[in-house]
Amino acid sequence: MIVMKFGGTSVKDADAFRNVTEIIKSRLQKNPLIVVSALAGITNLLVELFKAAADQNTELINSSILEIKQRHYKLIDELFGDGKQTELLNLIDSEVDKLTTLINAAKTIKVRGGAISHAVMSVGEILSSNILNEYLISHRIKSGYLDSRSVMVIENNGYEPVPNTESIKVKAEKIILPLMKNNQCVVCAGFIGLTEEEEPATLGRNGSDYTASLLCSALNGDELEIWSDVDGILTADPSIIPTARPLKVMSFNEACELAYFGARVLHPATIQPVLEKNIPVKVLNTKTPASEGTLIIKEINNYESAEVVKSIAYKEGITLLNMESSKLLLSPKITEDVLSILSYHGKRVYAISKSATKLSVTIENHSDDLVTLLKEISAFGEVAAEKNKVIVSVVGEKMRGHSSIHWRILQTLDEANINVSLVSQFSSQISLMFIIDEVDIERTVKLLHEKFI
Ligand code: ASP
Ligand code: MG
Repeated sequence: MIVMKFGGTSVKDADAFRNVTEIIKSRLQKNPLIVVSALAGITNLLVELFKAAADQNTELINSSILEIKQRHYKLIDELFGDGKQTELLNLIDSEVDKLTTLINAAKTIKVRGGAISHAVMSVGEILSSNILNEYLISHRIKSGYLDSRSVMVIENNGYEPVPNTESIKVKAEKIILPLMKNNQCVVCAGFIGLTEEEEPATLGRNGSDYTASLLCSALNGDELEIWSDVDGILTADPSIIPTARPLKVMSFNEACELAYFGARVLHPATIQPVLEKNIPVKVLNTKTPASEGTLIIKEINNYESAEVVKSIAYKEGITLLNMESSKLLLSPKITEDVLSILSYHGKRVYAISKSATKLSVTIENHSDDLVTLLKEISAFGEVAAEKNKVIVSVVGEKMRGHSSIHWRILQTLDEANINVSLVSQFSSQISLMFIIDEVDIERTVKLLHEKFI
């Protein structure tokens, strides 16, 4: 079996559903498990709606609920025409009713998070997956529906969702395998699940990739296909480099690095579950289904790719914290203490650099609690924050052991007077990562793409 994941833009309207159906038909002999996102824009609307509830903004609440309902009604109308779809329409009505109840509760108690927010966010995927399943059936495809909440066990460790892979495996084998056996394909929602206590939970924004990858790994799938609206993983962000081209093959390591440092095609956690099982991943475009896309596998030695630098990714909205303290000379534990402060506040540290008396770490821009953070860290030394930075990662399997490339990249930046604040380079690594000012991102990517790709 294979797992196919379709993102929000791939199911944005009736035409997109028709197109996806053709793609699924071409894979039926592989017995696909289909994981689907909410229609493009719906999760954003749900996020706004939930915020409007806590803000007690009745006007916005009513207009958002109406918009969500109308988009799905219109879709069903366009997909099924006069063919009665009473069950689907009833499903939309009942989900919208539930949503309204949840929103009223959130409005009354002015809540801004927790299980109720996950229940609200889940509505988009519940609707899109049910509609796709019914649409496939209307095309005489024997499709089975899986409620992802019966399989996806998602805990929260205080600041991020953590899937319980063991429980997922047990449930997937028990529930999905028989469904697959009795059907040509199975459709389920990405992104959503339940905690061990059966409270609503989600995998975080753009988490459907992660659902697909977790299920593919749990069921030992032959391949994971990630379908979106770009031609695969590109050599750079096409909004900066319009001529950026898709890469034919990448290693798991390269893809992890790019996803982690900002390439938007893959959720950063997608690769990890399939990496352990050595399951190949394909990143494909629903608009050009015949094109090859990008194949991600463990080793790329036998394949093409003469290039040393393969792709440039970047992550905006970064704050650099610089701490200076002579105490660092005496106590290595200070580094640990500073990192535990950051972890206590739920900050993900993307890069870190330490010398005898200096410690620099990067976190995401969070103006709300920066003052508190700085105050707590200042117990260990003098600390300052530099906001609006970007982490750039230049990636290529062949950069390993090719240290002159690191030097040439840095020299190129230096010659262009681009200020680099922190560099992480190891000759054993497949990437060079550095931090620059947000204002320099466009010219940096252009310069490096032209010179090295
Ligand atoms: N619908 C969710 C989101 O927009 C999950 C996904 O699209 O992968 O974040
Ligand atoms: Mg999405």
